Amino acid sequence: MKIFKFGGASVNSVERIQQLPGILKHYEGEKKVVVISAMGKTTNALEKITEAFFNNQKDAALQLFEHIKTQHLNTAKYLLITTYNETYEKLEQLFTEIEWALHDKPVREYDYYYDQIVCSGELFSTAIISAYLNEKRIVNQWIDVRDIFRTNDNFREAVIEWDITNKNVQQHIKPVFADCDIVLTQGFIGATDENESTTLGREGSDYTAAVFANMMDAESVIIWKDVEGVMNADPKIFPSAKVISELNYDEVIEMAYYGAQVIHPKTIKPLQNKEIPLFVKCFLDPSLPGTIIHDKNIKHLPSIIVLKNNQALLHLHSKDFSFVGEHEMSRLYHFFAENKITPNLIQTGAVSLVVSTDDKSEKTDQLAGEATALFDVQVEKGLTLLTIRHYTDILLSELTEGKQIVLKQQSPVTVQVLMR
Ligand code: ASP
Ligand code: MG
Repeated sequence: MKIFKFGGASVNSVERIQQLPGILKHYEGEKKVVVISAMGKTTNALEKITEAFFNNQKDAALQLFEHIKTQHLNTAKYLLITTYNETYEKLEQLFTEIEWALHDKPVREYDYYYDQIVCSGELFSTAIISAYLNEKRIVNQWIDVRDIFRTNDNFREAVIEWDITNKNVQQHIKPVFADCDIVLTQGFIGATDENESTTLGREGSDYTAAVFANMMDAESVIIWKDVEGVMNADPKIFPSAKVISELNYDEVIEMAYYGAQVIHPKTIKPLQNKEIPLFVKCFLDPSLPGTIIHDKNIKHLPSIIVLKNNQALLHLHSKDFSFVGEHEMSRLYHFFAENKITPNLIQTGAVSLVVSTDDKSEKTDQLAGEATALFDVQVEKGLTLLTIRHYTDILLSELTEGKQIVLKQQSPVTVQVLMR
């Protein structure tokens, strides 16, 4: 039994969805849970709709939603022949639910509405793709994962209630395989015990796949992407980037931590617990080997480059030239936690410290404001954080050439520089 995950980019057009039957036929006879994201940039579009709704711009929200409806109906029209009508009905029902919600006035918190609206992207995409695959005789059972994945009500970052979810998987997913080989469902979403929809955090479909793998004791997870595998740098920025054929869980967690857009960081733990290997493969050419991620000790990794733009640097200086002590540090960390901002790089001195974080605009400003209770604060924005794992001095000087280095931190394995 395998778990497949197809992300938004792998289902962002009719042509790409038409690749799916070929890939799945290749694994015919094997049982699979297929986890699918929302198509293309649907999640971003739904975020915009939520914002409009929450700002009492109902008409704008509805208008934006019309666009999403049209896109999905057009895709369905192209792909479906015999099951178009029933899929149309199903989509219309899902659309109506959202439209009803959009006609309300917001009275609860933003994150709640976010989840009720944004969760629909995955429901639309899977409704269409499930019907299409069934037409192509890739028999599959569509499941609403919100009936399976029980979470708490920490909207937008909901936490899975493991025992109930596991029980649901054993009771409702396993039996499906008596009749067909494929369970087709959504990533990224779940529901509370009061049937409110929840989401697991952006890019959370990888995590959904990993949780299924753990609970189903899968032999492997395959994440299908539009790249050849996990690369040692972003090929859009570094054309010489190469595929890394083998990685271990620890390295992937490190890469994700430093900002590489590889795999959602929460994905690893459920796999590691049961030593389930994760493959990243290219859906454009499934014959390519891709990357295997598992629990092995791996020697000779290439240098791995991660660039994170949009960094804010906080210069914090003690107000009275007293040492920066544990009391100030603990209060400062408290401000970080409250504003949900993670320090990427910290350097402390006697009477000052500097912290680089992702610039989350108002939140960063809020944090800087709060910190003035303890320090004199200066903020600099628009910086870039370069991280190189398994660096060489030559590579480091190449990548920092012509840049002003504001901050640097170095260990035997990792070097990080904040650049202007
Ligand atoms: N559709 C969601 C997102 O774009 C989840 C995912 O793609 O993994 O964040
Ligand atoms: Mg995605």
